[in-house]
Amino acid sequence: MTDSSTVLGQERAAVADACRRLGAEGLLIGTAGNVSVRAEDRVAITATGAVLAELTADQVTVVDLDGKVVAGMLEPTSELDLHLGVYRRYGTGAVVHTHAPMATALSLVLDELPCIHYQLLTLGGTVRVAPYATFGTPELAESVLAALEGRSAALMANHGAVTHAPTLDKAVEHALLLEWACGVYQRAAALGPPRVLDEHQQLAVIEAAIARNYGTTRPVPPEQEGTR
Ligand SMILES: [Zn+2]
Repeated sequence: MTDSSTVLGQERAAVADACRRLGAEGLLIGTAGNVSVRAEDRVAITATGAVLAELTADQVTVVDLDGKVVAGMLEPTSELDLHLGVYRRYGTGAVVHTHAPMATALSLVLDELPCIHYQLLTLGGTVRVAPYATFGTPELAESVLAALEGRSAALMANHGAVTHAPTLDKAVEHALLLEWACGVYQRAAALGPPRVLDEHQQLAVIEAAIARNYGTTRPVPPEQEGTR
C-alpha cells in the first residue's frame, strides 16, 4: 500500500471538489454522505468520518473494485459496498450519496417520486424509493441497486438519495436536480395533489430533446445572425 498522492491524484482532488460543492449547496451535512469516481479498475472514494463540506484530496482513499485499499491513509466510507455495487452492475463512472434534506424528507413518505417535471427524464423519469435497510449492509446495497434499474437516481427510504453518471460532474448535477425536484414536489404537495406527466407527455419530451440536442450550447444558426 502506498500513500503516494500521485495515485489517482486528479480523481481524488475532483472528489474533494465535488464534496465541497455539494456541501456549499446544502446537500452534504457534516460527515453524512459519500462520493466516488472510478478510473478503470480503481475507485477514489471519500473516507469515513470526514467532514465532506471541507474535504481535501488526502481524505479520499483509493480502492480496487473488490474494495481493497490501494492508496490513502484513511478507511473508506461504510457505504463502500453500495458504490462498488453500482460500478459493477451499471458500469458507471461516478456515484454520489447524500442525506440531502428534501430527498430524505420525501423518502419517509413516498414509494416513488413521480415524474412531475420533464427534467426528471434525465434521471430516467420516476425515481423509486429503495426499501429501508441498515446503513453499510449488503441488504441496503442490494435494495438500492434494484431501485436504480434503468435509472440514474434513487431515493433510500428513511435515509437519503443516490445518483450515478458516466462523469463525476454529471453525478453531482443529478444530485442537485433530484434535490430541486424533491423540493418542488414537497411545496406542490402542500397545496394539492401534484399533476404528473403521463407516458405520452414524457415520450414527447424525449423526442423533442433528441431533435433539439437539449442541454448543450450551440452556435447561433446563420439565419438568426444579427438578431441578437
Ligand atoms: Zn447514508
